[in-house]
Amino acid sequence: MSDETVVRLDQVRCRSYGICVSILPDVFDLPTDAKSAILLRHEVDPDDVEDLREAVRACPAQAILQGSGPT
Ligand code: SF4
Repeated sequence: MSDETVVRLDQVRCRSYGICVSILPDVFDLPTDAKSAILLRHEVDPDDVEDLREAVRACPAQAILQGSGPT
C-alpha cells in the first residue's frame, strides 16, 4: 500500500462544505443528516492520488489528510 493513497478525515474539523464529495464521490459522502462527511473507503486508487491532493487543498476546514501519518 502506497502511503499517499491513504486518506483520513477529521470529522471534528469537517464543516460539511461537500467539496470533497464533488471531487471524489466514490471516496467521500455527505449523508443528508450527518454532521460531517464520511469516508466510503480509506484508500484511493493510485489513479486518484492527484484528485486526493486536490481535495486536501480544496477543503476549507483542512479536515482531509493524505497518508498514514504518525502512528
Ligand atoms: S470539503 Fe472538507 S469540510 Fe467540506 S465536507 Fe469535505 S472534509 Fe468536510
